[in-house]
Parts: sequence; C-alpha cells; structure tokens
Amino acid sequence: MRLVIYNGAKLGVLRGDTVIDITDLVEAGPSWPPTFFVRAVAEFDRLRPAIEARLASPGRPLVSVKLESPVVFPSKLIAAPVNYRAHIDEAQSWEWMKEEIHGIDKYGVFLKAPSSIIGPNDVIELPPLDRRFDHEVELAFVIGKRARQVSEADAMDYVFGYTGAMDITLRGTEDRSTRKSFDTFTPVGPVLVTRDEIADPHTLGLQLFVNGQLRQDANTRDLIWKIPKLVSYASHVMTLYPGDLFITGTPEGVGPIVPDDRVTLRIDQIGEMTIGVAARVAHFPFAGQTTP
Ligand code: MN
Repeated sequence: MRLVIYNGAKLGVLRGDTVIDITDLVEAGPSWPPTFFVRAVAEFDRLRPAIEARLASPGRPLVSVKLESPVVFPSKLIAAPVNYRAHIDEAQSWEWMKEEIHGIDKYGVFLKAPSSIIGPNDVIELPPLDRRFDHEVELAFVIGKRARQVSEADAMDYVFGYTGAMDITLRGTEDRSTRKSFDTFTPVGPVLVTRDEIADPHTLGLQLFVNGQLRQDANTRDLIWKIPKLVSYASHVMTLYPGDLFITGTPEGVGPIVPDDRVTLRIDQIGEMTIGVAARVAHFPFAGQTTP
C-alpha cells in the first residue's frame, strides 16, 4: 500500500492517482501530540483488513489534495553518515574539508531532530548564515514494531515501509546533530510505501535535481550498511519504536543549495517531489559563535 498524509493530518491510501481516506479507521487521538501516525503504524496489521475493504470506495484525485510528510512525530530520526563509498571520496576531495572522512563503520549512526521534518508542499528555509548549505537525497524507512537487540537476519521484520528524504546540511564545525536539525532540514515523502510492495529495497535508483539539473544519481545497491545492519546496529544502542524514521545516507553528488532553488527528489517505486528553498527570515543571533 502507498500511504499518504494530506489536508491537515488526514490519512489516506493512494490507489493509482486517487486518494482514499482511511482517517476514520484510526483512532483520532489528540491534535497534540499528534500520535495518529505512530498508532496507525503500530496497529497496521490489525487495521489492514478494514483498510483493504475501504479500497473499493471512491476517492478523490491526488492532484486535488495537499500532501504532507507521510511520517509524523516519530520518536526518533536516525541517520547514517557517509554510507556510500563514492561519497567518502567526494567529501575527502572538498578543499575546505579539514577532517579525515571515514565510512559509517567508524561513525555509527547519529540523530537528527524529528522537528526538522517537512512535507512535499513545504519549503526548506535556510537560516541567515554566510555558509554553505548542501542537499542530500536518501532512501528512508520506517520501523513497524518495537525493536530491541534484533539480529540482522530478523531485522527486515521490523521495517514497516519506505519513503524518500532529503538531509539538508549546514557546513561548518558544529556537531552533525546541530547542523542537520534546523527546522525544515528533513523533507520527507512523497508517500510511504509498505514493505510488501518493494521486493528489494537495495536495488532502487535515486536521483536529486536542483532547478531541473541532475546532481545526484545512484542506486541503493551501493549502500555500505544496508537496511538490516542499520536496524540491528541501532537496536543494540536504543529501543526502536513504531514510526521511528531512518535515513540511510547520501550518495555522491552532494552540492550547495541557495534561496529560490527548487530541489527534486526521485526514488524508484516511491516517487518524486519538488521542494522550494527560501531564506529564513527569523533572527539567528549566534552567527558569531560559529566558525565559517
Ligand atoms: Mn545524510
């Protein structure tokens, strides 16, 4: 199933180009904290027969709805650093890169703030810093059930589904968790595809375009740590909960974005979305404390 969230936290299933609303099949819950998505994921096996029965109902055209992030309020956003070999070589070649770049074997995983998530109709807002901001395109996946110390062999049982993500990055000396956690720095979407629909998530082409120009073009077969290892490793560090979002790392082709750019993500079997870039008008009074 291809799940979407749209028009103010409505939950739907995409059937071709038609959205079928299933919001009422999930207990509504409070508007804050917005737990409907996590609960839908946690209870999906129980809900599935009712959802499948609903798919015979008429829906509304996809073009008539406003898509939002298909992942809402995950307890964690877990990210993989330098998880493609060609990106290691690329990052090491940047003349301003002062540190030695290693692969994920050396770094493990890191966390981004879940509050950085935005959807397909939102805009990346760059804070007023005279520094480089980069795009990264990544395959993302969502955890379906509580996972603690699971083996690589069992890890795929804990994956709920797949989506796309951009990991927007401020360059500089701050910790990754700061540089990548500004509000709007994790566009997610356009849809969340359940695991049963993608036979092998390690054969997906993924691309990123800036203003229509191809910047990144790779395949998930070249991931250094594939999904089972990411799940197993992280689950030996922290308990994973339904709805938790992983972003698997970016391939080569990383480059800068500036206000007024339009950034397009495209991933096989998931889809495509284009996000605008703007200058954030909010004051940022700490620029002098950082190293350009
Ligand atoms: Mn990344």
